[in-house]
Amino acid sequence: MDLPENEAGIEPVKFGPENRFRFRCHKGVKCFTTCCRGINIILTPYDIVRLKNRLGLSSGEFLAVYTVPQLLEKTDLPVVTLKLLDDELESCPFVKEDGCMVYEDRPTTCRYYPLGVASLSHKEGADGEGFYFFVNEPHCLGFEEEKEWSVTEWRKDQGVDIHDDINAGWTDLVVRKRSFPKNVRLTEQSKKMFFTTSYDIDQFREFVFNSSFLSLYDIDDAEIEKLRTDETALLTFGFKWMKWVFYKIGNFKVNQDAATKRQTEKGGETG
Ligand code: SF4
Ligand code: SF4
Repeated sequence: MDLPENEAGIEPVKFGPENRFRFRCHKGVKCFTTCCRGINIILTPYDIVRLKNRLGLSSGEFLAVYTVPQLLEKTDLPVVTLKLLDDELESCPFVKEDGCMVYEDRPTTCRYYPLGVASLSHKEGADGEGFYFFVNEPHCLGFEEEKEWSVTEWRKDQGVDIHDDINAGWTDLVVRKRSFPKNVRLTEQSKKMFFTTSYDIDQFREFVFNSSFLSLYDIDDAEIEKLRTDETALLTFGFKWMKWVFYKIGNFKVNQDAATKRQTEKGGETG
């Protein structure tokens, strides 16, 4: 299995849900907060929702201030990473002396540490289903602590299972795209659609409610009301919609009259 090596050249170990490890991170460790610097944190869609709400920003504002765009290797999909400060240590913008200032809403990757999520790794062979990798990094003194966890116990303790449940449809899109032959490339329009639907929830909401979108699909009133009032429901709806558009998997019912009218208006342009 080709998994990422860390900076110290230590090979990560493939872990399943029942594998166990010793770890505890707390303010008393000498290395406290050192791991929140010089890092590459890919943000998931639900990470953005939690963080932008925490900071009282729109998704567009959060993306502009706190993220850097990147193409996820082997997928050609546009993702974002947390933009680090321009200081000597390349610190995370949210790290303070006494810890993480957004702890309750910290990203999925931070919750998982010292485990990594295979579906977000840059390596081939990652299948995303119950597969994690574990890296015992020498600078991290948390491994010298007594507390022992299984992967399942750790995920629950860190609240990462909630993030994973909400992001599941998105992870599925990433894993499916990764299994595509290399020569199957996404159009720029598809990439833009993936980016907006995944990360810019406020713009996606605008698109759903202030374009011909709702006339194009047969969606019942109760679901429309849910999408209007529940941001998480809108996010997971977006994942389902992309799965249907990209892979024709799912049960979106197209209103043919509206589709024909839209195509005529757009002069044959699709999407
Ligand atoms: S390096 Fe390890 S023990 Fe130290 S702060 Fe980071 S996670 Fe905690
Ligand atoms: S978000 Fe919090 S936990 Fe994650 S790197 Fe930044 S300060 Fe550390």
